[in-house]
Amino acid sequence: MQRLLSMKQSSILLLLGLLIGLGFLATTLASYHTSRSALRDNIMRNELPLTANSIYLEIQRDLVVPVQIASAMASDAFMLEWAGQGERNPGLITRYLEDIKRRYDTSTAFFVSDRSGTYYSEKGVLHRLDPNEPRTQWFYEFKASGEPWEVVVDVAQKTMFINNRVVDEDGRFLGAAGVGLTLDRLLPMIDSYQQRYDRNIYFVDAEQRLVVTGSDGGPGGAPRGAPLREIPALQELLEQAPQLTDGSYQYHNGDSSHFINVRYIPELDWHLLIDKQESGILAPIRRTLWLNLLICLGVTAVVLTLVGLIIRRYLQRIEALATRDSLTGLLNRRGFGLVAEQAMKESRRKRAGLCALVLDIDHFKKVNDTYGHAAGDELLRGFAARLTATVRRSDVVARWGGEEFVVLLKDTPQATALGIAEKLRAATEDDPFACGDALLPATTSIGVACLVRGESLAQLLKRADQALYGAKRQGRNRVQVNAPAPHPPAITSAPL
Ligand code: GH3
Ligand code: MG
Ligand code: MG
Repeated sequence: MQRLLSMKQSSILLLLGLLIGLGFLATTLASYHTSRSALRDNIMRNELPLTANSIYLEIQRDLVVPVQIASAMASDAFMLEWAGQGERNPGLITRYLEDIKRRYDTSTAFFVSDRSGTYYSEKGVLHRLDPNEPRTQWFYEFKASGEPWEVVVDVAQKTMFINNRVVDEDGRFLGAAGVGLTLDRLLPMIDSYQQRYDRNIYFVDAEQRLVVTGSDGGPGGAPRGAPLREIPALQELLEQAPQLTDGSYQYHNGDSSHFINVRYIPELDWHLLIDKQESGILAPIRRTLWLNLLICLGVTAVVLTLVGLIIRRYLQRIEALATRDSLTGLLNRRGFGLVAEQAMKESRRKRAGLCALVLDIDHFKKVNDTYGHAAGDELLRGFAARLTATVRRSDVVARWGGEEFVVLLKDTPQATALGIAEKLRAATEDDPFACGDALLPATTSIGVACLVRGESLAQLLKRADQALYGAKRQGRNRVQVNAPAPHPPAITSAPL
């Protein structure tokens, strides 16, 4: 029974735990997903464009300055006059270029004359143009393009050149002036943006090639000069935007999710790409998710413990109700059965004496008839209290039914048991029971039997009951013992 109850208890707790746990899990995950999509939405709509904007402004300031320098050189009065008047005294232009290089801290400053085909730099006359030489092709292409200016990245020389068209008052092409910056000089600048904004930042030119990256390279460590379509990490992005166009995108690279903002820089004809890995952004709400799950786990554990305690207490009470007699508080027949079996085993193990007393109040029906049922109840309660008070705590006292009681005296020889039975009998006779203001007289008959080897509890009780029957037959208010054969027949102890 106990095992059955505890089995049920554990399945109730399991079910409850599952219900609470699933409920918590569902709400926690739902709120996690809601906040994650809200965060993503916010990143795509606000954060990404805003950050891109501030990075763009900073980069523009840093990168567009050389474009402005080249533009200023091309419209410089000295430059126009010197080139327009036949490039006399090359020392003058060398000093001018030297001054530009120093003032703006560029890697080089140059003027290439169309008229004389001379390449002037801060170091002096570098070389003469030769239309057949590949390294001077850029000049003829630039001249033919008609563009006012251009940015050319020479990946081999790791240098970025800003070429600006020099034109005289009549619109005649005089040559190209500008500055060069080594790309390595851009690395610390990009690195510092990357660190400050915790994003991967890189530039892509008009041919969709990586042109400027931080020192760790482009996406997935791709090197400068790599065409975007050959970078595996970007494949999903390129499926969405085969030609880069301004906007915010979300793409995946393997397991990691990325947010990316693309922005065109017209001054350079480049695209600026600002890439942010999602895991970094979602880390705080992931932490909250774990914390929530931990709290849920804690709450579930506390609830289950409390419910477990309540159920256990409830079961104990039910069990007490099932094994106790509600009128006298003594064990009932069922309760007696459980405890008596235990006492039997103990007695067999210890080879100690065990005696059973069966007591029945004499003519109890008359008490009910004379004083009423309530008075009868009161007498039963008083009788039960006396029984309990007379025997040891370790002995077993039970209400067998009606006005009949059983006492099991542990570790007790027959003589002692008889003595106790006699004491009970005498006390019942001598001390009437208080019931309200009245005192109810009563007597009791008692049958005694002591356990013999190989005997069962039922057999022992049966013998005690037989002794009680004998006592009743012999006129009541007496103790009779049932000694098993072949011992002499029952000894009767007459009232004193
Ligand atoms: P005997 O000496 O032969 O034992 O006579 P008796 O009247 O005591 O025995 P009998 O078995 O004839 O009657 C027992 C009575 O006990 C009958 C029943 O109404 C009464 N009784 C049983 N249980 C209760 C109870 O819980 N409360 C009260 N007040 N009376 C009870
Ligand atoms: Mg009776
Ligand atoms: Mg009876």
